[in-house]
Amino acid sequence: MRAFTYERPTRLDDAVALLAAHGPDARLLAGGTDLIIRLRDGTIRPRVVVDLKRIAALDGDIREADGALRIGALAVMTDIAADARIRRDYEALAEAAAVVGSIQIRNRATLAGNVCNASPAADTVPSLLVYGARVVVTGPAGVRSVPLDEVFVRSGVTTLAAGEIVTAIELPRPSTRCRSVHVRRTRRRGHDLASVTLTCAIDTDGLTRLAYGSLGPRPLLVADDTGLLADPSAPDGAKAERLETLFAAASPSARSMRASPDYRLAMLHVLGLRAVGTAIERLARGSAG
Ligand SMILES: Cc1cc2nc3c(=O)[nH]c(=O)nc-3n(C[C@H](O)[C@H](O)[C@H](O)COP(=O)(O)OP(=O)(O)OC[C@H]3O[C@@H](n4cnc5c(N)ncnc54)[C@H](O)[C@@H]3O)c2cc1C
Repeated sequence: MRAFTYERPTRLDDAVALLAAHGPDARLLAGGTDLIIRLRDGTIRPRVVVDLKRIAALDGDIREADGALRIGALAVMTDIAADARIRRDYEALAEAAAVVGSIQIRNRATLAGNVCNASPAADTVPSLLVYGARVVVTGPAGVRSVPLDEVFVRSGVTTLAAGEIVTAIELPRPSTRCRSVHVRRTRRRGHDLASVTLTCAIDTDGLTRLAYGSLGPRPLLVADDTGLLADPSAPDGAKAERLETLFAAASPSARSMRASPDYRLAMLHVLGLRAVGTAIERLARGSAG
């Protein structure tokens, strides 16, 4: 690991200024569960690491504000998985947060870090996509709010501008009754990223949204507004065909050590159909869980 200067500012402006001054030579540190690994293995070699945890304007609060649920940039997976409002209204996000790494990882890993790391396999991202999450950022040009779907480019690369810091992630209140589920396939729970990670949300208007990761350079969001997938009486064969069309853009890498492209694609369809069935059951039951 190359030696670096460790900065621990208390003001957001100072953190933005540090990023502006050092450009690509500076890296932000939240929980460190991705960053420290990359510092250690030398895939990144910053000269300055800027710790976000002492910044007074950043918090890990989860609170309702302006018709949305605001999740502060320092909120960790353990708190997200346990939050009663998330478990009730955004249950797939609670489920995804609950399977990230191990207890120790979840006590450190932030939701914002999971987003900003931009791994195609990030477990919370499919849920955030189906809920229409927005990312609130502060940077040299001020504050802006971006739809999460516009943030990802490819593994490790986002559209966030140099010097921008995520301060919160906002989930709009679901406009109709909606039930969701997160599912994934992984080789070893707690130690490995998912070979497929997927969320399905179905609402009472018959709209089905699915988002999936680990099958291409970035997580993808698709939707079925025909009502077919949400129809409890529609045959599985017809749903499988619809999913085939919706998942057409999946393009798993042949170079991954985790699973072959054929296996990932097969699992995407199995998990997709299973998730649709679970979301329908939950909608029929009417309550989370
Ligand atoms: C053993 C192990 C198991 C894991 N298992 C899983 C798993 O099952 N599923 C999964 O999805 N992930 C997993 N991870 C990855 C990791 O835990 C998550 O991606 C985590 O959410 C990252 O959050 P963090 O706070 O630790 O981010 P950090 O490591 O601190 O930062 C990650 C990246 O985001 C940037 N960043 C952080 N916060 C901000 C911000 N507010 N604004 C702008 N940029 C920011 C950092 O500069 C860095 O580039 C695992 C990691 C380990 C070590």
